[in-house]
Amino acid sequence: MTDHYRAVIVGGGVAGCSIAYHLARMGWRDVVVLDKGELTSGSTFHSAGLVGQLRASVALTRINMASVALYDRLREETGRDPGWRQVGSLRLASSKERLLELRRQAGWARTFGFPLTVISAREAVDLFPLMSPKDLEGAAYLPTDGHIDPDGFTYALAEGARAKGVTFRTGVRVQAITVKGGRVSELLTDQGTLKTEVVVNAAGIWAPEVGLMVGVRLPVIAMSHQYLTTKPIEGVRRDFPTMRDPDRLVYFREEVGGLVVGGFERHPAPWGLDGIPPDFTHRLLPPDWERFSPLLENAVTRVPALANAQVIRLINGPEAYTPDGEFILGEAPGVKGFFVAAGFCAHGIAGAGGVGQVMAEWIVEGRPSLDLRQMNVGRFRAHHADRDYALGRVMKIYSTYYDIRHASGERRPGRARFRAAARLPDAAQPRRWRSGRQAEA
Ligand SMILES: Cc1cc2nc3c(=O)[nH]c(=O)nc-3n(C[C@H](O)[C@H](O)[C@H](O)COP(=O)(O)OP(=O)(O)OC[C@H]3O[C@@H](n4cnc5c(N)ncnc54)[C@H](O)[C@@H]3O)c2cc1C
Repeated sequence: MTDHYRAVIVGGGVAGCSIAYHLARMGWRDVVVLDKGELTSGSTFHSAGLVGQLRASVALTRINMASVALYDRLREETGRDPGWRQVGSLRLASSKERLLELRRQAGWARTFGFPLTVISAREAVDLFPLMSPKDLEGAAYLPTDGHIDPDGFTYALAEGARAKGVTFRTGVRVQAITVKGGRVSELLTDQGTLKTEVVVNAAGIWAPEVGLMVGVRLPVIAMSHQYLTTKPIEGVRRDFPTMRDPDRLVYFREEVGGLVVGGFERHPAPWGLDGIPPDFTHRLLPPDWERFSPLLENAVTRVPALANAQVIRLINGPEAYTPDGEFILGEAPGVKGFFVAAGFCAHGIAGAGGVGQVMAEWIVEGRPSLDLRQMNVGRFRAHHADRDYALGRVMKIYSTYYDIRHASGERRPGRARFRAAARLPDAAQPRRWRSGRQAEA
């Protein structure tokens, strides 16, 4: 396999396929997507598929809105059903403080034109009648949210891209990337060499590995995330909205008459800190019931019918997290033509449509149409290269994910390391994440 492509995308997950689809829509057909396994064989195949649009930043909200705008068009264009179900979403307030937060969010939602309303506890129970009204102060209801089948969505994107000329090669592992004169020029795979001017690192939890092939250090930590699925439960309807109960740290959605129940535990678990095993393709981690039990107890207090439900399985999959909880997007400083789209912090399905669009704009036009400085790969500094710093931050981000944000809040973990790194002269700092060019020819 010796070939030339205008762009090579490393990773056939939802992100890589969306970028390929959007590049093709913008007229770049000479594009190949490579995956060491099959499409979706990273985090994508085991995603819970919830799609919520309202986020804490304008950019991320716009990205997720672009995703939702894509789903129907994609089905019409490709004839392939991405499995989108616009059932709406409920975000519960199980405390007075949370209700205040939801009211603030309703104002924020109006700035985007979302039809989000704060409804009473009674109205929320009407929408999700299996829910107990215990401690319920009210809820935010957004009818345009929903859930999507991650596999169906990814394959529809791939179908759309393929129809426009994009090539997909699965079972091909990228092993090295050559940089010449400060720009990417070649990829070495286990099946030959490809020449190209653009490489997109959409390799999920393997993104740091692929980054290091050109000397770019990406502070991505794989975190184990779990949800269970149940057999059908009497009373569960297909049109149930997705439901998040942040005070109880849990989320729910309907699946084949049963429920998907997941959450963000207070004592999360990183995985693969010393490297992701090379044979970890289309695989899950062993279920960790002990860690999941507090979430399950919380879930049962909100949906008592779960106490008697039959569990099909507890899914435990790794997901790529970043020290500030933001995506990593854009062209890496110092290596022209090397783009990154990774670190989706358990929102990669919801974000994928918009991510594909902004990444394609960035590659084709030189800049994205949204202000993405919060997500820009160029935001990292020396201290981010320190694994313990990144890990401390990621643990905090994950364990407090559902907490109410206060303006005065500060993320403390890693502060000492940050200050130490900042005081040191440049040469003595931990290896700079973007310094070396290991493959420079
Ligand atoms: C349990 C769980 C539940 C989740 N639930 C949700 C949810 O409800 N909503 C939501 O929005 N998000 C959710 N997520 C997150 C979402 O699934 C991910 O953010 C998303 O799938 C990431 O997609 P990706 O394309 O970046 O990475 P991946 O899907 O991991 O794809 C990366 C691909 O790169 C390939 N690759 C890596 N290295 C190489 C190499 N050297 N050569 C060739 N190929 C390579 C891999 O084989 C893989 O297929 C969840 C995640 C988990 C783990």
